Amino acid sequence: MSWQTYIDSNLLGTGKITQAAIYGHDGTLWAASADFNPAQEEIKNIIVSFDDATKIQENGIRCNGTKYYALFHDNQTIHGKNAQKGTEGVIAEKTNQAVILGTYREGTAPGEANKVIGDLADYLRSMSEFDFNEHSHRRYNPLTNSWVLCSPHRTKRPWQGQQETADNESLPSYDPSCYLCPGNRRAQGDTNPEYQNTFIFTNDFAAVKSDQPQFLHKPDGVRGECKVMCFSPKHNITVAEMSKDAIIPVIKAWIEVYRNSFSIPYINHVQIFENKGAIMGCSNPHPHCQIWCTESIPEEPTKELISMTKYYEKNKSCLLCDYVLLETLKLQDKPRIVCENDSFVCVTPFWAIWPYETMIIAKSHVKSLIELDGEKQLNDLADIIRRITCRYDNVFKCSFPYSMGIHQAPVDENDHSHDSHLHLHFYPALLRSPTVKKFLVGYEMLAEPQRDLTPEQAAETLRKCSEIHYKQK
Ligand SMILES: [Zn+2]
Ligand SMILES: [Zn+2]
Ligand SMILES: [Zn+2]
Repeated sequence: MSWQTYIDSNLLGTGKITQAAIYGHDGTLWAASADFNPAQEEIKNIIVSFDDATKIQENGIRCNGTKYYALFHDNQTIHGKNAQKGTEGVIAEKTNQAVILGTYREGTAPGEANKVIGDLADYLRSMSEFDFNEHSHRRYNPLTNSWVLCSPHRTKRPWQGQQETADNESLPSYDPSCYLCPGNRRAQGDTNPEYQNTFIFTNDFAAVKSDQPQFLHKPDGVRGECKVMCFSPKHNITVAEMSKDAIIPVIKAWIEVYRNSFSIPYINHVQIFENKGAIMGCSNPHPHCQIWCTESIPEEPTKELISMTKYYEKNKSCLLCDYVLLETLKLQDKPRIVCENDSFVCVTPFWAIWPYETMIIAKSHVKSLIELDGEKQLNDLADIIRRITCRYDNVFKCSFPYSMGIHQAPVDENDHSHDSHLHLHFYPALLRSPTVKKFLVGYEMLAEPQRDLTPEQAAETLRKCSEIHYKQK
């Protein structure tokens, strides 16, 4: 709404206000009704009177050449009565950006006129003074059709929760006891090849059990295959420290597994995820992810498919395409963008639950990894994965624990043209230091998730982090 609309509709439109104007705190005119033109001097005097009312108490209020007696004043509101005609009056309200001024004539009760101006002032105060980084509010997650409570003031409480020990131990590049290192024997007796970049094998049950994901559902009782994929032969490296060129073979291997799953009739869904760090339940530091190819579609992706379908039916456009447009083009200061390139954007989603939660979203409507358009998009995906994971490590100068999951179209026989849009979720576990861990507790478990660091604050912190890994400096 424009300032002029407020004057025309909210003030004059009520029939209670005769003339009105809106000014900035410095006295600049923002909008006014046709015949209302108080002198600059008059406006300046009214504005200073919110802080010091001596002048208007002694000399009255001058407005548009008319003199009014000051009836009431405080630091937000001034009411005056016409010195000649006691049935007419003037009202001034100060919000944190503007000063609203209005007059009324005989026939309008002063209380009615005061209320009209007061209501607009209250509305503007609530709008402009609402601070996403100060005030509690709820945010809607359109992807999962759920709510998250955002209570930023909680970050100011002294922390008394659990402290974790920072994982600063230096690891060898090869660990003879690691079941993922090249040339080593695994639990079932198989020997790993001397692989150069990536290596995939089908996991045995024991391994699945010892390395359970926290955010993704276990394929209990459904047919499927659980694979483990090593990102690198080096035991002591993480994605954050890998070069873009070293990440490309990882993505190519994901694409292969996804593509091959179409040929296994009972497989309908492929979930690629990485649990990084001991506090995410990952016992082995060797860089790897898991790929669960299952008959049923897990719960979170199912919720997203339903929401995306509903959104498409209503708007005839893709929910995530629209969300990317909003974050990258429509919002001027881009408060939630961490980094971007031609093909992908990394944002702290508006509805994020976890501190530093991010999403990498394809900028074009790409349904799955196999739709990535040649080397350019492949390169861009590797680039943005490297940049966000590197920033994560640099936030607290530690190997940042997270769960990462890739969401894309299921590999079933249905048409997913409108309900799937390639994106990666990063759910980090750290809150404020390398040793303070975030849990869902109490109200969050029972009623709805709650967060204290806003997505905008998290994005700002992540943006400030270098894209050169702290260990490589
Ligand atoms: Zn290893
Ligand atoms: Zn889309
Ligand atoms: Zn998703």
